[in-house]
Amino acid sequence: MKNAALQLVVHAADFAARRHASQRRKGVTAEPYINHLAEVAALLANATNGQDGELVAAGYLHDTLEDTQTEYEELEKLFGADVAQLVAEVTDDKSLPSVERKRLQVEKAPGKSVRARMLKVADKTSNLRSLAISPPAGWGAERASEYIAWAERVVAGCRGLNENLERSFDAASVDARAAIAAGAR
Ligand code: ZN
Repeated sequence: MKNAALQLVVHAADFAARRHASQRRKGVTAEPYINHLAEVAALLANATNGQDGELVAAGYLHDTLEDTQTEYEELEKLFGADVAQLVAEVTDDKSLPSVERKRLQVEKAPGKSVRARMLKVADKTSNLRSLAISPPAGWGAERASEYIAWAERVVAGCRGLNENLERSFDAASVDARAAIAAGAR
């Protein structure tokens, strides 16, 4: 990674850690939220052999617009239009009910840019890994299975771009299903 790209990524990690400082994951182990962001960024860095600093930075920042007090203009000013647009592309419209947002993610995934689709696959991979090792309290097998099926539908619209990422997602999906089956027994 070039110096400027390294700086961008480290700045994005620092910014994301601060903005999400008080947030934790929904799972029973309540990991710090930054763990999810670092995982997504690492998946993207590996998948692109460290060649796309903007995408990795967007990996760190991908939930800032949706889940923190951050404006698009702020991201654009600090990280550039490329990164800000990528984050905006993977941000749900929070004014819509959750069921509608989920439906739209499936419907709109195939029309997103290549990098936004890669980010989506990395995001869903991280979410399924968490579901396998630390499912949210109160989620029964049925709810967890529904979540996995939904994540698979979103990712179905993002395939054919990066084999490395898809392999990680498919492995996470298999593990999540196995964890549910083991738990339901
Ligand atoms: Zn996320």
